Amino acid sequence: MFENLQGRLGDIFDKLTKRGALSEADVNEAMREVRVALLEADVALSVVKDFVKKAKEKAIGEEVLKGINPGQMVIKIVHDCMVEMLGSEETAINLKAVPPVAILMVGLQGAGKTTTSAKIGLMLKKKERKKVLLASLDIYRPAAQQQLEVLAKQAELTSLPILFGEQPVAIAKRAMQEGKKGGYDVVILDTAGRLHIDEKLMEEVANVRDVAKPAETLLVTDAMMGQDSVNVAKEFNEKIGITGIALTRVDGDARGGAALSMKEITGAPIKIMGIGEKIDEIEAFHADRVASRILG
Ligand code: GDP
Repeated sequence: MFENLQGRLGDIFDKLTKRGALSEADVNEAMREVRVALLEADVALSVVKDFVKKAKEKAIGEEVLKGINPGQMVIKIVHDCMVEMLGSEETAINLKAVPPVAILMVGLQGAGKTTTSAKIGLMLKKKERKKVLLASLDIYRPAAQQQLEVLAKQAELTSLPILFGEQPVAIAKRAMQEGKKGGYDVVILDTAGRLHIDEKLMEEVANVRDVAKPAETLLVTDAMMGQDSVNVAKEFNEKIGITGIALTRVDGDARGGAALSMKEITGAPIKIMGIGEKIDEIEAFHADRVASRILG
């Protein structure tokens, strides 16, 4: 992944033979290439501008380390800066609340909410020995509730029995009551998505949030979606308030620059990465890995 940006920067730095500190002119020229790389990776323009400014400040005057050339030095600085911006802080799912702890899964239809709900359930069961209850609040998409039930079975997790005709807020209430009664540590609420954000969806999710009082509200977004996901993240954050991002389809070939934009624009950390369709194909977020991809 480094080769690409390295290739771009190669021509610029080939002209330099002397070692020493990175000059302002060299850094400016290099950052033009970084800017193009980021825009190509679907990072939002405002975020690109901020990023380049920060990276420039770090790079100018920096001594080139022994054993590497100036191009590699710039790449190192840019990469470190990207990791810092993506977030190297705590990304564990917050379970610090009186059990049953609610995790609210939100996002557009097809983003991977249902799959990720089951994946997180399985991960918490396996790694943290938590007793997890899954509940689908998606009464609109045909068979969505059954889909979660099937995934729960695969993961050997319990899902809230489906009562046909029950409305989302009532399902959330019942899930929390069942969570309490059954001694569950965690209740994962899989909300309905729409193809586009609409008022009704937001109102419904807000009502569910008020009932469940989640410790985590995770926005599930598809890494392949590009810049549109930034608006989605902004909307959900303004209307619902998100505490983290679950990025799905990280196994695809998208560069995933939108992840950086979402993090920057909402301030919510990326916590989870979906890396395949299978129920155990989930990982904690690795800023390092995503940074390398975005830089190309
Ligand atoms: P929802 O509408 O948001 O609940 O989305 P689903 O959970 O139904 O997921 C939509 C499709 O994306 C399904 O076919 C999933 O198998 C697939 N999917 C979800 N997460 C991932 C992932 O991390 N990688 C891949 N390759 N596919 C995924």
